[in-house]
Amino acid sequence: MATKADYYDVLGVARNASAEELKKAYRQQALKYHPDRNHEPDAGDKFKQVAEAYQVLSDTEQRAAYDRFGHAGVQNGGAQGFSGFEGFGGFGDIFDAFFGGSGRSGPRAGRDLEYEVAIDFESAAFGSEESITMERVETCDRCSGSCAEPGTEVERCSTCGGSGQVKRVQKNIFGQFQQVTACSTCNGDGRTVRTPCKQCNGQGRRRNKRSISVTIPPGVDNGTRMRIRGEGEAGEPGAPSGDLYVYLSVREHEYFNRSGNDLYFEMRVNLAEASLGATVEVPTLQGVRELKIPAGTQSGRTFRLKDEGIADVNSGRRGDEIVEIFVATPTKLSSRQRELLEELNQTFESEDGDDGGLFSKIKDKISGEPR
Ligand SMILES: [Zn+2]
Ligand SMILES: [Zn+2]
Repeated sequence: MATKADYYDVLGVARNASAEELKKAYRQQALKYHPDRNHEPDAGDKFKQVAEAYQVLSDTEQRAAYDRFGHAGVQNGGAQGFSGFEGFGGFGDIFDAFFGGSGRSGPRAGRDLEYEVAIDFESAAFGSEESITMERVETCDRCSGSCAEPGTEVERCSTCGGSGQVKRVQKNIFGQFQQVTACSTCNGDGRTVRTPCKQCNGQGRRRNKRSISVTIPPGVDNGTRMRIRGEGEAGEPGAPSGDLYVYLSVREHEYFNRSGNDLYFEMRVNLAEASLGATVEVPTLQGVRELKIPAGTQSGRTFRLKDEGIADVNSGRRGDEIVEIFVATPTKLSSRQRELLEELNQTFESEDGDDGGLFSKIKDKISGEPR
């Protein structure tokens, strides 16, 4: 397939176009390519493109995703079921909104569901499979959503002859269109059920407890929202299911903090290591890495371990791990250690006197006696 055209180009608007401008551009383009008026062979495709572009750009969230990640941001990008504008779910809605489908009837789509899932820090970093148990309205398994008791006869709707649709001519400010609407007798189903299914009472749907498995792509963060198409509630017979929105909350890690795709780790070293320099072992998400600390390292100094952070959920590019040094002051000393430190301290005191350091100056001020 050829590369997809930019949505803004398709509508012929600037990237900062307002909602009003988008709507106007969409209306113009849709009119131009509407198959009833434009008989060029590619008009239908163009019309679909225009509708798709408008569907994405008119949705604030999808537009933001598209601005940041392009088509990958609003389509099935890699991970299963992650985000997704596929097919033309809302196409009819947009069409109707502009070309006069007021009083639209027909089977109603299923409700969207929302669910919050708490996952471990590592699951967010590396991805995982999470199982969600919920109650939702599903297609009846006895009649497979046909509403009729299995094995019984189903008759064709006499109003629409079984097509589920009726045609009529519609006029609005754009001109005259042939409008196809759902048959109101059969609610777009095209059939008349004589013996309703016993399990769902002819509804075609029933409430069910269900566990579904959700694939968490690596790199998600606290607050990430995932849209899983078609895993919401079942629609009325003939209508699509709703979507499932999963909100992620990520549990804290024992010793890593996360900021974007970077990890922060506080590394405790002792006095001697900080003063003399040392090679220390630092935990990373992938295992342990050695880090060389130069002599004279102060508390608060940071070191960056390249590419040891979290892989970005979209680009896969890795963040870094930032190691902050904390020089730990010993709190329990053996007598030998005390001895050594006292000896060390004396050497500092003599140095202090020699170079006239800040500390001795302060002491002088306090005592008022110049040395
Ligand atoms: Zn049933
Ligand atoms: Zn009918």
